[in-house]
Amino acid sequence: MGQMDKKFVTLVFTVVVSLWAGCAVGAAAQQQDEVVVRAIPAAVGYSPEFDRALQRGWRSETGAPGHSYWQNWTDYEIEARLDPETAKLEGTVQILYAHDAPANLNSVLIHLHQNLHREGSPRSSEQEITGGVTITRLAADGEELSERPMEEGPGWEVDGTLMQVRPTIRLEPGDTLQLDIDWEMALPQRGAGRMGHSNKEVYLIAYWFPKVGVFDDLHGWAAQPYLGNAEFYDDFGNYKVSISVPTGWTVMATGELQNPEEVFSAITLDQLDAAAVSDTLVVIADAASRGAGTVTAEGTDGWLNYRFSAENVRDFVWTTSNVQRWDATSAEVANQIWPDVDTDSDDRESEDRESDDSEAQALPIIQPVVDGTRRVLIHSFWREDLAPLWAEQWRYGQQAVEFHSEYTAYSYPWSHMTSVEGQDIIEGGMEFPMMTVMGSYEGQEASDLYNVTAHEIGHMWIPMIVGTDEKRHAWMDEGATTFLENQSKMEYWPGVDHHRVGARSYLQVSEARQEQALMRHGDYYEPGPGYGVASYLKPAALMVALRDVMGEEDWLKAYRAFIAEWSFKKPSPWDFFNTFERFAEDDLDWFWTSFYYETWVMDHAVGRVVSKPTGGATVTIEDRGDAIFPARVRIRTSNGMDFVHEIPVYHWLAGNDRYEIEVAPAAGSVVRVELDPGGYAPDVDRQNNFWPRGSGE
Ligand SMILES: [Zn+2]
Repeated sequence: MGQMDKKFVTLVFTVVVSLWAGCAVGAAAQQQDEVVVRAIPAAVGYSPEFDRALQRGWRSETGAPGHSYWQNWTDYEIEARLDPETAKLEGTVQILYAHDAPANLNSVLIHLHQNLHREGSPRSSEQEITGGVTITRLAADGEELSERPMEEGPGWEVDGTLMQVRPTIRLEPGDTLQLDIDWEMALPQRGAGRMGHSNKEVYLIAYWFPKVGVFDDLHGWAAQPYLGNAEFYDDFGNYKVSISVPTGWTVMATGELQNPEEVFSAITLDQLDAAAVSDTLVVIADAASRGAGTVTAEGTDGWLNYRFSAENVRDFVWTTSNVQRWDATSAEVANQIWPDVDTDSDDRESEDRESDDSEAQALPIIQPVVDGTRRVLIHSFWREDLAPLWAEQWRYGQQAVEFHSEYTAYSYPWSHMTSVEGQDIIEGGMEFPMMTVMGSYEGQEASDLYNVTAHEIGHMWIPMIVGTDEKRHAWMDEGATTFLENQSKMEYWPGVDHHRVGARSYLQVSEARQEQALMRHGDYYEPGPGYGVASYLKPAALMVALRDVMGEEDWLKAYRAFIAEWSFKKPSPWDFFNTFERFAEDDLDWFWTSFYYETWVMDHAVGRVVSKPTGGATVTIEDRGDAIFPARVRIRTSNGMDFVHEIPVYHWLAGNDRYEIEVAPAAGSVVRVELDPGGYAPDVDRQNNFWPRGSGE
């Protein structure tokens, strides 16, 4: 990435044993013990696919999207009808797939996520069998196709949760393919703990329609089977969705309701208007008004038809119930207007080839213009008898939308944020654009329901606005979101450093050598704490550690630039790494390699403190782990001096595992030494961070 890491390339994975054999390494020559006595992190190498994307201007060395960045686009028009008594859903979808990729496609991959529940489908854990998806009709560009093996020509073929469609004419760059698909399926009660129904009185309907997979600049077809664990990777698109449910059933969905007067009663419409300008709770419907059937309109022949429209979202989900209480309020966020960014500028390409410094200055950071404030409706659907903690949930939703908008400097962009209590469907929480479903949290603390709310709403930024690949790189969305959750907790439940609490759990696993690497596909972790630590706790702790290394100001600029520059686009880990390096104005490969690619352990320790008879002392700091991290040492002396000494990463990168600090005689004798006084270094053993031992935490 940068220049300076090149010299370390040859030292990849050097270990103590081989180097004790007398191998002299130039980089280590400054120190007295002239051998490299530690592991040296390799430079982060780009995959050939990422290199190609750089060369073609699809991505850039600065971490921002390249001047020729491209992504495919999909428009969906869906009509769906749910029979809540049988949990059967029928739908038709018209898909317009705009193929902007510089490639010819003979076939198109479609996700049929509900085939996770089909007999014989591969999956990572046991699932309810519903029969999966039945395709009753499929036409491509108006031509009817039938199910047949791909090698026999145009048609469609299903393999687990993926369907391959081969139209009669291949797609060339700039072409649009129209697919018309009719399907039906039975909804599971609990679809991989992410969607389903509770007692056929609450439905959360997600991963429910045939959806085009991602074809991107790094992988070509990135569509992979849904096995139940690793999550999703989606293109952005527009949706027009018409949903039919029996009268009395309310529906809320991703997007804007187009026909509120046709589906809601006059009272409901009035209450919604009140909530849209209110800071406090407005009860749209409680159990009593549900029973009297006053929430919805009369409908036609016992049915209501809700019509939604959503633009530029990566998915569409909906919820329906005839029993849940409906609370609402609104959140206030800065009204941001984002300028159009000229990504076609030729200047940027030439600047890409220059040094890191000119890149940092050359790239304009996208800044929104703030024009007053805007209100976001907050909805909370829950059952009073099952989920009493949810009485306060509207507050949590409101605070999370406001806090996250401010911290990310990217205001929540949509008109509503809806939370659904999903007892029987889910235990934790699951995120969808503008919506989340979460457990009842019955018997738990109010703060637990707050935490999951802050977390799921945090996902509106990553991966809903910043469209990361959750399957391959779960740490990108889960780590960033766990970080944001902890950050917002400190505002709502002050008094505890929630970053440290989370970091401690990761470090226990790290110390026990139970970690698995972050840069690993979400479907391929061994059982145990590997996936959870690598996807949630560790990357969140690393955000905090990096913030400590870069300084809050530069770190926050990088974090916000990453969100703004990649909003409604699809960044990779290397874009994330490059963005932070741009603002650090430094190479951080030591950090990415030690902590993202490897499961190296970091352990700084105060070694010997040797006092001199004439005053002063020599303090030895030891690096007992493999992972590289700068050290901050605080020393107090008998003369009342208190100073902080920084050991730069370059010292460790040169192959050293110890560092000596000379304390001048005039300072008196050393009375206390403390490593990492800020407490954010990912250090597995804090006991040895203090001298005298036992004088610390
Ligand atoms: Zn999450």
